[in-house]
Amino acid sequence: MVWVRKSVRAVRGADGAMTLLVVCDDITARKEMEERLLHGALHDALTGLPNQAFLLDRLQRVIHIAQRRKQYYFAVLFLDLDRFKVINDSLGHLVGDQLLKEIAQRLKAGLRPSNTLARFGGDEFCVLLEDIKNIGEATHVAERIHQMLSLPFRSGGQEFYTSASIGIALGSHEITKPGDILRDADIAMYRAKAHGRARYEIFDRDMHAAALGRWVLEGDLRRAVERGEFCFYYQPIICLASGRIIGAEALMRWQHPQRGLVYPGEFISLAEETGLIATLGEQLLYEACAQLKLWQANGQPDLRLSVNCSALQFQDRRLAQVVKTALEQNNVAPATLILELTESLTMQDVDYSITVLDELNAMGVQLCIDDFGTGYSSLAYLKRFPIDCIKIDHSFVKDITHDEDDAAISAAIIAMARSLKLEVIPEGVETEQQLALLRTLRCDAMQGFLFSAAVPAEQFTDMLVQKRVLVHG
Ligand code: C2E
Ligand code: CA
Ligand code: CA
Repeated sequence: MVWVRKSVRAVRGADGAMTLLVVCDDITARKEMEERLLHGALHDALTGLPNQAFLLDRLQRVIHIAQRRKQYYFAVLFLDLDRFKVINDSLGHLVGDQLLKEIAQRLKAGLRPSNTLARFGGDEFCVLLEDIKNIGEATHVAERIHQMLSLPFRSGGQEFYTSASIGIALGSHEITKPGDILRDADIAMYRAKAHGRARYEIFDRDMHAAALGRWVLEGDLRRAVERGEFCFYYQPIICLASGRIIGAEALMRWQHPQRGLVYPGEFISLAEETGLIATLGEQLLYEACAQLKLWQANGQPDLRLSVNCSALQFQDRRLAQVVKTALEQNNVAPATLILELTESLTMQDVDYSITVLDELNAMGVQLCIDDFGTGYSSLAYLKRFPIDCIKIDHSFVKDITHDEDDAAISAAIIAMARSLKLEVIPEGVETEQQLALLRTLRCDAMQGFLFSAAVPAEQFTDMLVQKRVLVHG
């Protein structure tokens, strides 16, 4: 029991002697309650592991030690479970929670008591290693964690497999704030994810510079979308029989106020990751349809326009409706719009793809598989998709004249496409030799720098007006 003095009084007895009367309270319950509250504030309710607040406190103390001792090293391992969202989404949060608990127990049992294992939030855990000799000790722990997670977890009669991406940051007297080393480990963890998951990466300065660059780019990108700094450039698609332009591919460009023209290679993947591509793609689709209508109304009634569709746009159930509205508002015939989709995108969830593609096909929009041959493709599926056209990727065209394998692959793709009654457009045609070879393989149309790079709309208009023949039959 814990007693605490409440009051003290001097009392005179009948015999005249003074007695001290001490009144005490039993505060055991209060003490227990305080301890429970403190424990609750520093521990995670689900797994019972130390939480973020606990870890930050511990890190602060370790940083103090390191600042006093030059040769003192510590490390933070930042763990993020791979594809945990899939388990949560498909099997429900209860199963997800159960799995998190078991993972926490397994990790705790496999680590030394001196290592602080904390749940950082969601499916993220952190391990703090104090007073280590070198980075080898940290990588050894990362390898042990991978081993521990490689055995299946069992719950409700089912087996689950999981893995984690781990970022490691080494700390010394140079670290002054817990947030800094956690940020470094987090950056390294993202690198591990990007390099294929179920692995670890050690933080280095270049990673910080790259992460900073991305962060700046993301801010720039958001502002640029608001300010409408994006536009389409148009690359002609040439009919081989006539040498004339029969269509164009709309390719996105960013007119950066300081840097000038920025190409998609620098921003498309970030626009995808941040979800900005959805707004951007939709905005530009309207613009492209308006432009197409203008060209069609001015002497090019059959001109077709190809627009690239990103994974995010394809997964958006509103896609068909967005396309329909863009076409209707500009009074464009659906058959003159071609949506380009990559193989990997359509193969992810074949049933979903068929539903979306059928919907677009029913509207009369043309569908094209872009970068054909680079991803996993199955002829059987291709037959099930209502596809009109395929584009042979640059990488095959590039070496077609001196690599027999690439020539054979291109020939096979073209033959297959013809038998399925699909149009074939090789892209990235740069030389006369490539053109000659592709011609013998009987392609209908082509695209590449040999004819023209993508140009601004006005320049494309000039090409149309001049009725330029870009290649002779
Ligand atoms: P893609 O769809 O395969 O587009 C063709 C790319 O090849 C374009 O690069 C084009 O400029 C380039 N190219 C054309 N002819 C030649 C050639 O003869 N040789 C070589 N080496 N390259 C050639 P760009 O414009 O830099 O676009 C790159 C990628 O960015 C596109 O590849 C596409 O995946 C993506 N992208 C471009 N615009 C959009 C867009 O509006 N939406 C989405 N989601 N992605 C886009
Ligand atoms: Ca394309
Ligand atoms: Ca392509």
